[in-house]
Amino acid sequence: MTKNVVVIGSGVGGLATAIRMARRGYEVQVFEANPSFGGKATKIEQDGFFWGFGPSLFTFPELLDELFLLCGRQPKDYYKYHRIDPICNYFYPDGTRLSAYAQPEKFAKEVEEKTGEPARNILHHLQHIKKVYDLTKSIFLFKSVHKIKTYLNFDALKALFKIGMVGIDKNMNKANATDFKDPRVVQLFNRYATYNGSDPYLAPSTLNVIAHPEYNEGGYFLDGGMPDLSRSMHQLATELGVKFSFNSKVEKIELEKGKAKGVWVNGNLHEANVVVSNMDIVYTYKKLLSGVKEPKRIIEHPKSTSALIFYWGINREFPELDLHNIFFSADYAKEFDYLTNKKSVCEDPTVYVFISKKYQPQHAPVGAENWFTLINVPHDAGQNWDAIITEARKNILRKLSKELGVDIEPLIVSESINYPKTIEAKTQSYLGALYGSSSNDKYSAFLRHPNFSNQIENLYFCGGSVHPGGGVPLCLLSAKIIDELMPNE
Ligand SMILES: Cc1cc2nc3c(=O)[nH]c(=O)nc-3n(C[C@H](O)[C@H](O)[C@H](O)COP(=O)(O)OP(=O)(O)OC[C@H]3O[C@@H](n4cnc5c(N)ncnc54)[C@H](O)[C@@H]3O)c2cc1C
Repeated sequence: MTKNVVVIGSGVGGLATAIRMARRGYEVQVFEANPSFGGKATKIEQDGFFWGFGPSLFTFPELLDELFLLCGRQPKDYYKYHRIDPICNYFYPDGTRLSAYAQPEKFAKEVEEKTGEPARNILHHLQHIKKVYDLTKSIFLFKSVHKIKTYLNFDALKALFKIGMVGIDKNMNKANATDFKDPRVVQLFNRYATYNGSDPYLAPSTLNVIAHPEYNEGGYFLDGGMPDLSRSMHQLATELGVKFSFNSKVEKIELEKGKAKGVWVNGNLHEANVVVSNMDIVYTYKKLLSGVKEPKRIIEHPKSTSALIFYWGINREFPELDLHNIFFSADYAKEFDYLTNKKSVCEDPTVYVFISKKYQPQHAPVGAENWFTLINVPHDAGQNWDAIITEARKNILRKLSKELGVDIEPLIVSESINYPKTIEAKTQSYLGALYGSSSNDKYSAFLRHPNFSNQIENLYFCGGSVHPGGGVPLCLLSAKIIDELMPNE
């Protein structure tokens, strides 16, 4: 009899797992609480403008390609992507503007010209993070850190032997302040802590490796924007026979004699040989597995930051802006003190403006631009969000208007907003955290939930709140790890 698999949720991790299970020949049923697929990688359309709900930067495209090739499909028949250059434009409060070019030498030269930081320091840093990535990927990314066999090979033993080199004992800011003289360059590289919702003044310097794909392998733009990722994966899954039920919230995982036996949806039991949860791990325990002992250290580990996003339709074009634009705060340490300790937002936050129209003209009407304007905010801790949003909107508009020399507010012709509470409501992410647990601790990699259950047979977990972590490529990897963990039959 064909085995059947139920996947709870159709975020990036859920879609990738459903595809991999269908390729194995299993019957796969996905239950999704929302009316459509994608989770955080869904789309927003309003007043003739298009935005991605969440992710904007596409890295490690080979992981997506691998999924399609595995199923005998040509990626180009489903989606297309382009390498971006420059990767990002940086605006500093002192008037410095610099472009992070895709070629390391050109980028290093640009930094030297604009800040005086010797180009060799940049190149040395980029080489160092490549070495750290090559050393650690086989343990921390591509395999389950929770299985002993991960450590029983030459690459893993080499990585453990050289653990001092990867920098778990220093924080990112300390390491960057050692590598660079210019505070603007330190700030630029500290920024990568935010890619997994962490704080550069606490997160281990190993996380400087997050900049590696962008500078050493390339940042990409997926034509159609990041929602195209979910669209193409949903298309492939459907072709492989995966069944999707939307508006179908799973209420409980049914257990029998220590095994997952199915899921309850709208009062009906759907039996399954294997259950995979793409729901945030904290809520999987709290809402779907009541009565099962929670892994306390993992559940209680501090959560990552969240985001406040203004999806603005702007009735003008700005040639000085590119696809990715960062407007830095004057005091980064203060910004993170607010985020981490005060659980609030300072008056001068770093502002990220992503404009997919720069690569995809149909994402905004002629003469207009679609601004995805984001600041980091703490996860929900009961703050007065109305007050925070009102204040932040004012501060962001003041900052952007000053930097661009134009009053931005009158140019806004369309607006919608997401913040921790709506992110939680729309994706079931605990406290609206974008990446599950924060990585502000040197043991964080081990404090993410494994991709399997230690207590319940046939139960697996994928997506950004479990190993190897949040972010689109890591969600794709979580599905790959589950595929490798499943017994071959
Ligand atoms: C604002 C923002 C910016 C980001 N920027 C980037 C970026 O630039 N690059 C990057 O790589 N990553 C980025 N990310 C992170 C990235 O979007 C996520 O890591 C990834 O999309 C999460 O996928 P996931 O598999 O964890 O599922 P999620 O997207 O969390 O989706 C989970 C799905 O499960 C469904 N679900 C939950 N519970 C149930 C239930 N009980 N029954 C049925 N369905 C259920 C939900 O409705 C949802 O559709 C960003 C995220 C946000 C929000």
